[in-house]
Amino acid sequence: MEQNPTQEGVQPIAFKAETRQLLDILIHSLYTEREIFLRELISNASDALTRLDFELLTNREVLDPEAELAIRIKIDPDEKTLTIQDTGIGMTAEEMVANLGTIAHSGARDFMTAARQGEQNISDLIGQFGVGFYSAFMAAEWIRVTSHSYRPEAQAAAWFCTGADTFTVESAEKAGRGTEVTIKLKEDAAEFLQETRLRAIIRKHSDFIPFPIYIGDQTEQANRQTAIWRQSPREVDKKDYDEFYHQLTLDPEPPLAQAHLVVDAPAQLYAILYAPASPERGLFSPRKEEGLKLYARKVLIQEYHRDLLPEYLGFIQGVVDSEDIPLNVSREAVQSNRIMAQIKKLVTSKVLDMLKKLAEDDPERYAQFWKGFGRYLKQGVAIEQSSPEALYPLLRFHTTTQPEKWVSLDEYLQEMKPDQKDIYYIMGDDDRSAMRSPHLDAVRKLGYDVLLMTDPMDAFMLLRLDQYKEHPLSNVAAAELDIPKEDEAQEQSVPQVAEAERQPLIERFKQQLGERVADVRLTERLSDSPARLVDPEGAPHQEMQRVYRLLNREFDMPKKVLELNPRHAILVRLSALPADDPRSGLVIEQIYEDALLIEGLHPDPASMIARIQQLIEAALV
Ligand code: ADP
Ligand code: MG
Repeated sequence: MEQNPTQEGVQPIAFKAETRQLLDILIHSLYTEREIFLRELISNASDALTRLDFELLTNREVLDPEAELAIRIKIDPDEKTLTIQDTGIGMTAEEMVANLGTIAHSGARDFMTAARQGEQNISDLIGQFGVGFYSAFMAAEWIRVTSHSYRPEAQAAAWFCTGADTFTVESAEKAGRGTEVTIKLKEDAAEFLQETRLRAIIRKHSDFIPFPIYIGDQTEQANRQTAIWRQSPREVDKKDYDEFYHQLTLDPEPPLAQAHLVVDAPAQLYAILYAPASPERGLFSPRKEEGLKLYARKVLIQEYHRDLLPEYLGFIQGVVDSEDIPLNVSREAVQSNRIMAQIKKLVTSKVLDMLKKLAEDDPERYAQFWKGFGRYLKQGVAIEQSSPEALYPLLRFHTTTQPEKWVSLDEYLQEMKPDQKDIYYIMGDDDRSAMRSPHLDAVRKLGYDVLLMTDPMDAFMLLRLDQYKEHPLSNVAAAELDIPKEDEAQEQSVPQVAEAERQPLIERFKQQLGERVADVRLTERLSDSPARLVDPEGAPHQEMQRVYRLLNREFDMPKKVLELNPRHAILVRLSALPADDPRSGLVIEQIYEDALLIEGLHPDPASMIARIQQLIEAALV
């Protein structure tokens, strides 16, 4: 049967190889979720209507300016066709060749990459990606798109394709503005001719499309279409918020938290904001960039607005709608606008409140949030100009006594010892090695807990975060820590390097290590460890050193001071060893390199093996 009496002389146009491949996959795969083709076509119709709506703000010179902005779906049971009509912006013949002849949808491209990797079932992938227009070939024997551009002088045109290697575009008759996509359903796709089935699909996938969707000639809408952000929060329940989120992002997981903002002053503002469950949603999401959807008087004026929240909160999803936003102004103007600045402030503090509330009401979910997004908040502490303090209560840390838990600064303060003034932290490359650091000896004995700062972002955060509720943050690696001295009695009982042996011992280290250390001295701060490395006075802070290292700046680590523990058995015995004993040099080298290793500064740990073997040999004599 000839479905498309093609006009004489119309040349078929070949698809690009990439498009061809996508079509093959879509036509030949088993699809558990092929209903999503309807979502894709409705979303295209909605995009076309949004663009027209935007055009109408400044231009009444369009075809059919009075036509209702709506989507209509028609079923023809005899012909077995489904038609999705819209009164949107439409396409000219050239636009059809450009838009429907190549893969426009970036989600489709991601889909192809994932499909080629072949790790996941294709039908699962189709459900997760917005595959775009071509997804209709999952259900279609052929597709005809007839369209009339909004430009008054434009000619209507028709695109036709059977899913083979080519398509055609020719001139056509079409009364009225917009696009009509007609799908001849495959034999096994008759389910889509049932009105109840269509209604269910629309409810599931397209309920919040901001234009009415009608079925057949009915005047009653199949979608709720409400701008739920304009409803009173009392009328909206959790399920509605979750559904709206899902339709916005296609994130398979519900959001961790949401906030609904409705205010009249200083600006008229409606917003719904979400914290996603995971930062890895990106690839699958139809949200291709960071930013919030910005509506002004219900017209979508920007799909991704990035200035409604500070940059570090870019992972937040949602919609902002205000009566007071200047319509159709340039991005620069929006940026410098006073109202916009007020809106940004309101939206930002709403997001922070939302996170605070999540942390209080559901610490477990907050821990999940922190694992995914904590880094962004730390970045916020480092860069936030106006009030980084607002973020401090949201911070979480592993600590030396609770390395598996996420502890807040407030919880840390609650657990402080009566004589403890400072909040202590230790820096390192990972929790495990930081926990073994000799710097912890002194505070551990006093029973103090210590925050583990092992994320690269921590160094940046610490440049800013230097106290919390009047308690300074102190690095335990500092040479001088303001902590109570140990009691004398206990000190006496431990064997230690004799007074007369101390200076000669130091000299021995200095001679052996030479230029590699800035100085060698004894310390009372160590108990379980024989030695540690600390920064000489006046060296840049450890945070700063890390920041430089991370930013890859030309930066020579300042030479360190080696501090020795005169009460450690190794040093007691070393001092008793004659200076010309060959083991003396080996032990000194090993103590120094152990200290380098624990600081994460050893350039080549495997090089120690030869010496360790020599020491073992000597020990076994
Ligand atoms: P995307 O929607 O992500 O751009 P699609 O594959 O869904 O990708 O659609 C491809 C392009 O075809 C769209 O970008 C748009 O230019 C055009 N298009 C599709 N459907 C319509 C329509 N109903 N009205 C106007 N243009 C459309
Ligand atoms: Mg699309």
